[in-house]
Amino acid sequence: MYIKFWGTRGSIPVPGHSTLKYGGNTPCVELRTSNNRLMILDAGSGIRELGKHLSSNGFEDPIDIFVSHYHWDHIQGIPFFLPLYDKKNKITFFGETSNGEKVKSILQNQMTANYFPINLNEICANTTFEEIKINSSYQIDGIKVETLRANHSSPTVTYKFIDGEKSIVYMTDNELKLNDTSDKIDERKISNLIEMNKSLIDFCAGCDYLIHDSMYDEISILGKKGWGHTGNVTLTYFSILAKVKNLILFHYNPDYTDEKIDNLLEKTINIAKGERAELNCIASKEGMSIEF
Ligand SMILES: [Zn+2]
Ligand SMILES: [Zn+2]
Repeated sequence: MYIKFWGTRGSIPVPGHSTLKYGGNTPCVELRTSNNRLMILDAGSGIRELGKHLSSNGFEDPIDIFVSHYHWDHIQGIPFFLPLYDKKNKITFFGETSNGEKVKSILQNQMTANYFPINLNEICANTTFEEIKINSSYQIDGIKVETLRANHSSPTVTYKFIDGEKSIVYMTDNELKLNDTSDKIDERKISNLIEMNKSLIDFCAGCDYLIHDSMYDEISILGKKGWGHTGNVTLTYFSILAKVKNLILFHYNPDYTDEKIDNLLEKTINIAKGERAELNCIASKEGMSIEF
């Protein structure tokens, strides 16, 4: 499998000198399976550059786009995704019916006349829309795709992609549950963490890569319970408990500078080291790719 990050930022794009290293575009991850099937995870502003890259190579293979939820930072790149405007391309959007509205209708709404000059019905690619169900399993071209509900302020899908022996979990905009949150996690909190996040731990168990929301450091998340995001300390303990092999920090707070994210990563690595865990911690950045 191969992954490449085209957008790593949460909430809103933040271009500028303080975000050059980790990037300012909102979520978009390119996933290539072992048989080179292209799967795109979320369609934030990062998908624009990915689309230009694909179009410059005259892309014709099927493109599957998995949308976690419809907060703007996860869909705002769709109108600017060049492969949509080429009739050679076959594009499928996977997403969940949300608040009674189907994926096609939700995505169409952001391209109505008041928001964008071209309607989704006017685009030329062969586009289809698939409704995803929670706690389900799908087979796409030899890849198993499993779904689970994330804890977020809007209904959100977490996806796991299993390709032979390899697996990757995309769990963004997720708040890991813990009774109270502070910089230090003791035995009691660990048992709370296990108890309150059992289905998520089981879902991630032993995966090769976990791409997870790390919107905040643990101090900043105080007072933000219920916002649907996670602090790095809780996330590190969660990953250790789930025996994740590689944790990738993702969906950064738009206010976090490169220096702040360097610091977030360093703290995360130190926690894993302190626990003598075999957990490799990585901070996602735009343009970074991993093959495994
Ligand atoms: Zn988000
Ligand atoms: Zn969100």
